[in-house]
Parts: sequence; C-alpha cells; structure tokens
Amino acid sequence: MNLSAKPLARFFRTTFFPLLGGALLAGCATSPTGESTLLLNSPTQMNAIGEQSFEQIKAKTPIDSGDKVNRYVRCVSEALIDRIPASYGLQSEQWEIRVFKDDAVNAFAVPGGKIGVYTGMLKMVDNQDQLAAVIGHEISHVLAQHSNARLSQQQVTSTGLNLANLLLTNRVEAGTQQALMSAMGLGAEYGVILPYSRSHEREADVLGQDLMADAGFDPREASSLWRKMAAEGGSAPPEFMSTHPAPTSRVTILGDRVNELLPIYQQARAQGRAPQCDALR
Ligand SMILES: [Zn+2]
Repeated sequence: MNLSAKPLARFFRTTFFPLLGGALLAGCATSPTGESTLLLNSPTQMNAIGEQSFEQIKAKTPIDSGDKVNRYVRCVSEALIDRIPASYGLQSEQWEIRVFKDDAVNAFAVPGGKIGVYTGMLKMVDNQDQLAAVIGHEISHVLAQHSNARLSQQQVTSTGLNLANLLLTNRVEAGTQQALMSAMGLGAEYGVILPYSRSHEREADVLGQDLMADAGFDPREASSLWRKMAAEGGSAPPEFMSTHPAPTSRVTILGDRVNELLPIYQQARAQGRAPQCDALR
C-alpha cells in the first residue's frame, strides 16, 4: 500500500481518532435521571449515524417548505433548544429542523442535531404547548443518548453489526442499516419497529416536560397531549405510539409533576420566555 502523507493524515483525522475516541469513551455511563446505561459508541459516531439516517428520511419523504409551517415548527423547536442545559454541551450545535409532508402522526430527533416533524403531527396537536411536549420529548431522547444505548444493546447481542465500516466507507449492509435506523427510532419507515423501553420513555417524558416548562410552554399540556394521542389511536395507533409506547401511568405521572413545574413555567414567562408560536400557525 502506498499512502502519501495527506490521505494518511485524513485517515487519522476522520477514522482513527474517532474510533480511538469511541473505544476510550465506551462503557458504562449514568443517564441524566440516574439510570446506569451501556454506551459503546462515541458522540462522533452517533452524530454520523444520526446525520446519515436523517439524509435517508429526507431522500424518501417529501419536505414541506411552506413558510408558515416552518416558522411555526422552528419557533417551538428553537425555544426548547435555547434551554438545553449547558451540561449537555450542545449549545453550539447547528440544529436542522425539517417539516415532512406526510399524514403520519410522527416526529423524531436524532443525534447530530436533526429534528423532523410530520404534517400529520401538526394537524393532531391543539397548540404550541402540545407541539413543544412532542419535540421536547424527542430532543430528550437525544440528550439522554437513548439511540446510543439501544444500538449498544444490539451490538452486544449481535456480532453482525460492524459500525467501523460506516465511518470507513459511509456504506453499510442493509441489515446493519435497518438496525441503525431502528435504534434511532426511525424503524417504522423501514418496517422495523423498535419501541423505546419504559425507562427510556419515562426519562424522555420527564426531561422533555422540564425543558418545555423552562422554555415557557405550559407543562400541563404534556398530559393533555398524551391523553389525546391515546384517544386518537383507536384500532390504528398513531405511528408515534408504535416507537414511543405509552405506559398507562404516563398521563398520571406527567399530571403529578405539574405542581412542581408550574413555578418554573411562571418564572420563565416572567423572565420574558413566552413563546408566541401559535400566532404563526
Ligand atoms: Zn419516546
């Protein structure tokens, strides 16, 4: 093999160091709400997987580029992103927010700062606060590194997942691709649904509701949203519910937290964090 200096430097920058970083960071970690969790992949790897998955969704789902709808979704998302605690180190992240023209009641966020909201979800929510509950929940899955945890679990049980390959060639086998997408919570697009676990759902609920209150969205609307989502379901539950299963206790838990969160919400409003995204609808 005849490697000149330049490609070699690039190899170290783009492949060797990220992999080394991954190996050093790998192992047991503690989630934001204190659960112990196995994380085998570095943030660099997870961001690359998130970005690639997002590109795939964009390639196969029409994007709604309407001004009004994009301003509305951006208004809610940015108010939440602004309040992500500094400890996550995501302040400087450039978040990409897309509205997909699709009747599925769905929304997602993936590592690398990507948020997708489907027009079906926008039709379902009653107001900005319910949309904030959805997006806050999704952002919280990213903050708590749930896709890394889900993927790590699959890596432990399946020897076929070769992620190094993804960073080397940007190409992976179809089976691995499905595993990656489903770990991101995007499996429904590919017929492989991997529901988040109860503990991940609880954690995303709690962190998401904290985030919405601190951003000046009414935390009471979180339980209203899930009650509505469950009722909408009937015999064919919204797509969102298949990857985000609702424990029966969810509405109660979110309702019980309201007393604790109302002062935070009121303080946010008093300090001028009073989003008026509904005016853009
Ligand atoms: Zn969820």
